[in-house]
Amino acid sequence: MRIAILSRNENLYSTRRLKEAGEARGHQVDIIDTLHCYMDITSSNPTVRYHGEVLPRYDAVIPRIGASITFYGTAVVRQFEMMGTFCVNESVAISRSRDKLRSLQLLSRKGIGLPRTGFASKPDKIQDLIKNVGGAPLVIKLLEGTQGIGVVLAETNKAAESVIEAFMGLKANILVQEFIKEAGGADIRCFVVGDKVVAAMKRQAAEGEFRSNLHRGGAAQLVRLSKEERATAVNAAKAMGLNLCGVDILQSNHGPVVMEVNSSPGLEGIEIATKKDVADLVFQFIEKNAKPNANRTRGKG
Ligand code: ADP
Ligand code: MG
Repeated sequence: MRIAILSRNENLYSTRRLKEAGEARGHQVDIIDTLHCYMDITSSNPTVRYHGEVLPRYDAVIPRIGASITFYGTAVVRQFEMMGTFCVNESVAISRSRDKLRSLQLLSRKGIGLPRTGFASKPDKIQDLIKNVGGAPLVIKLLEGTQGIGVVLAETNKAAESVIEAFMGLKANILVQEFIKEAGGADIRCFVVGDKVVAAMKRQAAEGEFRSNLHRGGAAQLVRLSKEERATAVNAAKAMGLNLCGVDILQSNHGPVVMEVNSSPGLEGIEIATKKDVADLVFQFIEKNAKPNANRTRGKG
């Protein structure tokens, strides 16, 4: 097959591994820089142009859209969808996953376990907002943060109030969430391909830190999932309409709760921690599922 990886940087571990794995399975794999794609959106014959030429018809596209280019990146993916090209993650699902609030609302509708979470835009009811998610300690998050930046732990109601006021004063969209203390600074990253968790790792936050992001110094190791955790991850991916994603779960005393679903999960941490060839599994999925016009918008919102 002829397959494109949409990625800004061909030297990233994930991009390199995907190209390598696809070629090892006999495919022709091109790395296309998302921001260098351009298109005539009014043409009745939709195409994507790149460095002065029309891109060939790909059998599949693997979008690796970074959070900083979601708007343009999803427009490029949408253009491929208009051409009938199979996109491993469709544009609507990528957009959903980028907004933590929208994601939690979609997961909630499907009855998936979540940390108790509140959202408000006006500062006049802050105390009730805090009370409603169970009071301090609690976590306050920027809606579009990533890599642990914009996630704050407030130990007291007073601290929570000040942080919420400060964020709101900056006109930042935030959500307020029950702190899952019993998770002990660890979370579980479930790597989902299709309707299976193909690899999972436990990430433990560095000493004195509650955020387990590898970018914040967290350490990863292989973990065996319970049946309930596995089902939670698969259902979360399905609710978001993502075929390829990382579902992050906290082990709470009311069962597994989903923190977020990442539509461009990194391969490096998970491949090293689990010693699994995750990239190869992505291509196995493509070989089974890539057909023209196979994308359809799943779910609502
Ligand atoms: P980001 O998108 O920046 O990674 P997350 O929502 O994943 O933001 O939060 C970053 C980290 O903070 C998580 O990996 C987890 O370790 C910790 N964390 C986030 N929310 C909670 C919570 N409600 N309870 C306990 N720990 C949390
Ligand atoms: Mg995270």
